[in-house]
Amino acid sequence: MALMEFETVIGLEVHAQLKTDSKIFCSCSTRFGCEPNENTCPICLGMPGVLPVLNKRAVEYALKACLATHCEVERTNIFDRKNYFYPDLPKGYQISQFTLPIGRHGRITLQGNGIPKVIGITRIHMEEDAGKSIHGDNLGKPGKSYVDFNRTGVPLVEIVSEPEIRSAEEAREYLMILRSILEYSEVSDCNMEEGSFRCDANVSIRPVGQKEMGTRAEVKNINSFKFVQKAIEYEVERQSQVLRQGDQVVQETRLYDANRGVTFSMRSKEEAHDYRYFPEPDLAPIVIDEDWIKRAQSGLPELPEEKRDRFVKDYGIPEYDAGVLTASRALADYFEACIRTFNEPKAISNWIMSELLRELKSANKDISECPVTPENLAKLLKMVHDNTISGKIAKTVFEDMIASGKSPETVVEEKNLVQISDEGAIETLIDDVISANPEQAEQYRSGKDKVIGFLVGQVMKASKGKANPGLVNKMFQKKLRG
Ligand code: ADP
Ligand code: MG
Ligand code: ZN
Repeated sequence: MALMEFETVIGLEVHAQLKTDSKIFCSCSTRFGCEPNENTCPICLGMPGVLPVLNKRAVEYALKACLATHCEVERTNIFDRKNYFYPDLPKGYQISQFTLPIGRHGRITLQGNGIPKVIGITRIHMEEDAGKSIHGDNLGKPGKSYVDFNRTGVPLVEIVSEPEIRSAEEAREYLMILRSILEYSEVSDCNMEEGSFRCDANVSIRPVGQKEMGTRAEVKNINSFKFVQKAIEYEVERQSQVLRQGDQVVQETRLYDANRGVTFSMRSKEEAHDYRYFPEPDLAPIVIDEDWIKRAQSGLPELPEEKRDRFVKDYGIPEYDAGVLTASRALADYFEACIRTFNEPKAISNWIMSELLRELKSANKDISECPVTPENLAKLLKMVHDNTISGKIAKTVFEDMIASGKSPETVVEEKNLVQISDEGAIETLIDDVISANPEQAEQYRSGKDKVIGFLVGQVMKASKGKANPGLVNKMFQKKLRG
């Protein structure tokens, strides 16, 4: 039998924590990193006789998430009870939305390699988070388990995509774009380390050309973009092998082990719960009227896609640059703040994309913690532009600015790095280089163009990088070739 070729089919379920200060049905804090069970009360602990009170702000944020992803909004929202037993779920049910999610039929546009691709969003619904089980093995208390209810009742939206994603890279891009949309709209801080943006990946494969989808595996709770991509790649490989051996993929829930780079079975779908959904009787339906939608819409900022298009149009930078710069709202703001000081968008964009992002990454810092203010970065690039310093020196100055937060003028002055553009001083250096390297000088004089690189290099070295290289070049030409 010829080797079968497969196509990958992926649908993603994302849980994003809404940015409210208090929980969705009680007034406990949603703050991360508190003492275990510090943020709890009879309501989120599911004591008998308590009643939930809906946090309106959570609905407002969910509504914004829907509008920012072009969903149709459900006008009459009801909540449903999803019943199951688990130690981290004190009520024995989770309040969620089942039959009527707040949003449906949305979309997210991937940029791919310049060819846009739309991924449908099936639904967005609101729900409360569960608590967290902590197993004593990791705390030096084997055999014991603990539960922390701080997360219980924290508001979430679950965003479910259509099975229209076709590769691990597309899945990664979908998540990056979704995260930036939610961040821009100030609906969620999408902090992956703190669990406010988590993803379940449903993965199946099918022979190329086949219409029906294959049996899927669902990889649960992946908490980094890199791991999503790796987990999917692993699944595709695993499922291909299963099919090539003539076996069947079983529908199951799997977990990703980042240390070993593999997924493993957690439970098969046969054991899956029947959740016995029914409408939550303790919460009245909430009506989202036209007026509320209008207000939410006008509260949305310029979203990444619009901003990217505007950057291309207004600043004349390439699509690719605009994509990188608008990936986070803070970075886009930083870029625009630079431009207000020094209006050379491409020079600024180049510097941000190479030097700045690299330095931030190696310091493990976010743009919001950048020690170099946009004004100072712009001033640095202006100094290069004005020939006050060379591009090469600028890199050294920049390293210093990153480390010390100093202004470029201060660094240049302290280290005496001003570019030498004085012709007399440069001529002296050139004469020295010619007499020390008569052979190369002669070669250049007799038409060997390439030697100029060497000669200029010698002058740059002698001047400790401070000579103006353009000027050095010109003066060599004039001197040796008249
Ligand atoms: P569940 O709630 O059991 O996870 P859903 O029907 O809500 O099931 O589907 C969840 C996700 O799985 C959706 O993103 C959907 O696009 C995706 N999905 C469904 N079937 C497949 C399949 N055969 N292969 C890949 N993804 C799938
Ligand atoms: Mg699922
Ligand atoms: Zn509470």
